[in-house]
Amino acid sequence: MAVLTIKCPSCAPEGRVSFVDPDYEGPYTCWKCHGLFSITVQAGQLKSCQPLSREELQRQQEIEALKAKFRRSPSDKDKS
Ligand SMILES: [Zn+2]
Repeated sequence: MAVLTIKCPSCAPEGRVSFVDPDYEGPYTCWKCHGLFSITVQAGQLKSCQPLSREELQRQQEIEALKAKFRRSPSDKDKS
């Protein structure tokens, strides 16, 4: 598990987020100003933090839901 400190671009305080996976891509909500951000974390390092609108978040969640729906479980045949 990785713990990352994210500094909110809108307000000064830093928030701590813990990840199960060191590679993370998804929404982050500031604990203080409740601003929404889309963050990308690679190997436990913050790569990008961009403001995210509610509409965009909703769209991303819909895409994720669709992905989960159609995601194929890896079969032994695909292993090389
Ligand atoms: Zn904030």
